[in-house]
Amino acid sequence: MGKISDRAKNMAESATLKMARLAGELKEQGKDIISLSLGEPDFNVPEYIKAAAKQAIDDNFSHYPPVPGYKDFREVICNKFKNENGLNYTPEQIVVSTGAKHSLMNIMLAVVNPGDEVVLPAPYWVSYIEMVKFAEGKPVIIDTSIETDFKITPEQLKGALSPKTKAFVFSNPCNPSGSSYTKEELSALVEVFKEHDCYIVSDEIYEYINFVEPNTSLGCFEEIKDRVITVNGVSKGFAMTGWRIGFIGAPLEVAKACAKVQGQFTSGANAIAQRASLVALRDKKDEVKKMRDVFLQRRDLLIELLSPIEGLKLNVPQGAFYLFPDVSGLLGKSANGKKINNVGELCEFLLEDCMVATTPGDAFGCPKNIRISYANSEEQLKEAAKRIKNSLGKLS
Ligand code: PMP
Ligand code: GLU
Repeated sequence: MGKISDRAKNMAESATLKMARLAGELKEQGKDIISLSLGEPDFNVPEYIKAAAKQAIDDNFSHYPPVPGYKDFREVICNKFKNENGLNYTPEQIVVSTGAKHSLMNIMLAVVNPGDEVVLPAPYWVSYIEMVKFAEGKPVIIDTSIETDFKITPEQLKGALSPKTKAFVFSNPCNPSGSSYTKEELSALVEVFKEHDCYIVSDEIYEYINFVEPNTSLGCFEEIKDRVITVNGVSKGFAMTGWRIGFIGAPLEVAKACAKVQGQFTSGANAIAQRASLVALRDKKDEVKKMRDVFLQRRDLLIELLSPIEGLKLNVPQGAFYLFPDVSGLLGKSANGKKINNVGELCEFLLEDCMVATTPGDAFGCPKNIRISYANSEEQLKEAAKRIKNSLGKLS
């Protein structure tokens, strides 16, 4: 009898973390890997945030913090939501967790009953689908394509929502497509949500990395605001992925349920990282905007370098730090005596042939695409583009 639970066995390994692991192992073996697989800023944490963390240690923030987060941190989060996003949450509606990933898992466990449907537009972020399944919910996928910038239409949304829908979950700006919905586009979706009594989870972790307009929070629409769960955190905007702080603003009953779940699994999030994140948000500095500007330059550079490559169909993503090209034109071709049958094999080929790590789109619900992260230096991006061009040129 196998000893590992079906629950653990049936869970897919995170494709983003898997590629990062494989790339890391090859690097350790001395291979000259360029990693465009993991979605994390390559910048250092701004100095004022580091100083706040050091101060927190000296101030002896060494005890268990309150389960939903320090009250003054939750107040700062409320102010951030109010001033930047037009969202009115009270501190009781905020729960701070160990990264936005943890926030999302809390939400799934707090709202999804076995058999409940959870609607996910594809591409969805890898972990959403596994979380839904872990909570014994049923994922309902809305397909999109590069031709529509991977955005769903109100008609598609209407077709996917049903009386069994417990929640809709999306990221905006989107990981992996980089798409960002305009206020008008969101408003059209709100017209559909108005008719369906489900929770709407708006993952805004890439909020500050938006190249078109300030990000619009779904929760600012009056008609649905009581059902919106807003997810955010410091990982992306402040380059603090390793500090593991995420948070939600949610209807009171959801916030309470998330805190209860968290109280049994992890207790409150790391005390020092919370104190530093409080200062990160309260005293937000120009660095956040500067990092965003650098990402924009890199996006344009990489699009310019990759566009001429045959077989890569690109769009211009409006946010985050990913390109999500359609590579269906390359599937079925061969190189080095091996046929490339799917995007997983294409990513393996790129890793083996030119040592560039990317992530297969099937993990995001899009088997025609691959994800290329441009959270890397210009120099590395130029070198990666050269290598990709050379390797894909071998396919026939
Ligand atoms: N949501 C999305 C869309 C993400 O891309 C990620 C991962 N970066 C997360 C949530 C989780 O972020 P965190 O590092 O705060 O757990
Ligand atoms: N979210 C990032 C990504 O999509 C980090 C990895 C992860 O947490 O899955 O690459």
